[in-house]
Amino acid sequence: MIQIHFVDSIPKADAIEEGHLYISLKYNMTSHRCASGCGQLVPLPLSPADWSLTYNGDTVSLSPSIGNGVLACHSHYFIRDSHIIWASDMSASQARQQQAADAELLKRHIEERAENQYKMSFFKRVLAWLRGIIERR
Ligand SMILES: [Zn+2]
Repeated sequence: MIQIHFVDSIPKADAIEEGHLYISLKYNMTSHRCASGCGQLVPLPLSPADWSLTYNGDTVSLSPSIGNGVLACHSHYFIRDSHIIWASDMSASQARQQQAADAELLKRHIEERAENQYKMSFFKRVLAWLRGIIERR
């Protein structure tokens, strides 16, 4: 069972342990190490175009599945009720369909975000920019 940690911001890479999922609602970001044991960090953003998180007060689920395009090791799995559920590899045509659907969703999301950002006041934009610099350190 994956241990979940709700954190303010995602810890630095070397502090991320295997079998733990870190969730920052503040930055709409999650991170964990690949369930295959390959050690790869898997940062998954939360947004309508990325992943959705379900928390039932005890366990979490992430949707959609995690794999193929995201992971170098080509593993493919789901996180359901804080458990890893292994999935079979997507076929090439399924992967292409998924990518096309994702691209469309992402495009819509970026358009919405651009519109929202335009509405943000100058001060908020400066603050977001500063926060971005601090996060990257
Ligand atoms: Zn892996």
